[in-house]
Amino acid sequence: MREQITAIVLAAGQGKRMQAEAPKQYLDLGGRPLLFYTLKAFEESFVDEVILVTAREEVSYCKKEIVDRYFFHKVKKVVPGGKERYHSVYEGLKAIENADYVLIHDGARPLVTQEIMARTLEAARTFRAAAAAMPVKDTIKIADEAGFVADTPNRSSLWMMQTPQTFFFPLILEAYTKLIEQEKNGHTVSVTDDAMVLETVFGGKIKLVEGSYENIKITTPSDLKIAGIFLKNTLDTKRQ
Ligand code: C5P
Repeated sequence: MREQITAIVLAAGQGKRMQAEAPKQYLDLGGRPLLFYTLKAFEESFVDEVILVTAREEVSYCKKEIVDRYFFHKVKKVVPGGKERYHSVYEGLKAIENADYVLIHDGARPLVTQEIMARTLEAARTFRAAAAAMPVKDTIKIADEAGFVADTPNRSSLWMMQTPQTFFFPLILEAYTKLIEQEKNGHTVSVTDDAMVLETVFGGKIKLVEGSYENIKITTPSDLKIAGIFLKNTLDTKRQ
């Protein structure tokens, strides 16, 4: 039977670091909401269906003003997320009826490309878990509580994690289900990406694949300006 590929696009964050009125996924980028570009990338991809996760109070706005308005036919469900990113991912995973592989992607990364998506899927077929990442460019320090340098990890082994992070669906569903159970049993959970869920729950191995320095997560106002420039370049190149 043909493989079923699903994407979860996460847009349930509040974006406090943006200091803007609207959550960052709805901020304007070249006349369209940021989330438009992310969903467009998936609409035009090999992905069969998309589950969009938004804040509970934004579900109907997103359906009407983004999904219906721009004819994103691959978005099959818009579901409410949770308090932390991992809660939102879990809600997305539970909404999937049938999938072989799932790409989990931050709605706040509108510059994802078809090539990056394909690289993560290709690696996930072999290794069951793969994530887009790039080598860090700056030296990273570990600081102590007083704000002094405590350690300097070797830069050549440091990577900035991006999304999509792509998994064999039954594996990531089981890992998240266990994580949420652990939290219900009083364990402290502090995971910031999907790879970390596999690492902490199963000690699983995650293959790093090449992302892009343009696949940035829009977090601060300056990120939005940079994304605008990258986007303009992409559109200009397509027009040529
Ligand atoms: O907060 P952070 O920058 O790590 O968010 C990454 C992505 O996860 C964003 O696209 C954001 O909308 C989403 N998110 C979510 N639910 C949360 C927190 C973040 O869907 N509770």
